[in-house]
Amino acid sequence: MPIDPSFEENREQVDEHEGHAVWGPVDEPEELGIHGTHVAVDFDICLADGACLEDCPVDVFEWVDSPGHPESELKADPANEDQCIDCMICVDVCPVDAIDVDAGRAGRI
Ligand code: SF4
Repeated sequence: MPIDPSFEENREQVDEHEGHAVWGPVDEPEELGIHGTHVAVDFDICLADGACLEDCPVDVFEWVDSPGHPESELKADPANEDQCIDCMICVDVCPVDAIDVDAGRAGRI
């Protein structure tokens, strides 16, 4: 199942991580929610393929550890989402549709 592009309406912001929002539900370590708002990564779908880290032209993503998560023990964190230039490469290359990018959401948090 891909990331829900309407997560802002369907989820609540439950936390902040490295300057970006975390959208619940979160129940660590099995359930980690969505990280980011402009560049949103569903950590519960991400399986650490790494294509987004390799292909993003402005290095928005950084690995974070997620020990004990059923999909993968690393996640692509949109640590520098404010640098995003909306090229949509990450959305295209993610094999599990874990990423949604929408400049319209930027700065709303
Ligand atoms: S849309 Fe482009 S610039 Fe933005 S995070 Fe994805 S790959 Fe990087």
